[in-house]
Amino acid sequence: MAVREFSAKEVLQELKKLYHPPRSFLKWDTPFELLVATVLSAQCTDERVNKVTKTLFSTYSRPQDFLDLPRRELEFLIHSCGTFRVKARYLQEISREIVERCGGKVPGTMEELLRLPGVGRKTAAIILYAAFGKVEGIAVDTHVFRLARRLGFSRGRTAEQVERDLMRQFPQKEWGRINALFISHGRAVCTARNRKCGECVFRKRCPSSMVMGRGDLAEIP
Ligand code: SF4
Repeated sequence: MAVREFSAKEVLQELKKLYHPPRSFLKWDTPFELLVATVLSAQCTDERVNKVTKTLFSTYSRPQDFLDLPRRELEFLIHSCGTFRVKARYLQEISREIVERCGGKVPGTMEELLRLPGVGRKTAAIILYAAFGKVEGIAVDTHVFRLARRLGFSRGRTAEQVERDLMRQFPQKEWGRINALFISHGRAVCTARNRKCGECVFRKRCPSSMVMGRGDLAEIP
């Protein structure tokens, strides 16, 4: 674990003052729609996903719809989200599992979600918190990964290691919020390139603060 100068509580307090993010930046009405949107969001912006799903969900919004849809057609509909062949395959495999094994409903536990094809802890944690109000993990995406390392909460090299470090230091009741709060700060101030340390509330004590002449801990292997 990395050295840091402030507590998880202090970081949460500051981020909560700054941001009031939604539970999910993706637009959805049902757990299945959230699952589809989350799969599409891999290496794609939320804005692009929301644009694609607006059209997609107007006609296809249930697992059976995705099973009935010819693969080529699904690929065409989600094409602009990138890696569309892989995503189309996963979406149909997930839909098949949900229809055949889960009674047509997205399961509401980490264990069952992880059994769905292509669903990892990040996706499962997002679904559980946003759609079911459960906190069983912390969704570590690129922003959470970067911020956790820059702020000194983790030296982990994988999302799993960073999640474990964060889960040790942050109270469980806050796990669900960390994703949206870290994403908000990661997008607005602590960006991957050209971070704006001069405008950051953590600038005086952050172990990666450029204001204090420090290097970027996120880049240290
Ligand atoms: S001080 Fe800089 S590196 Fe640290 S959290 Fe703020 S923007 Fe990120």
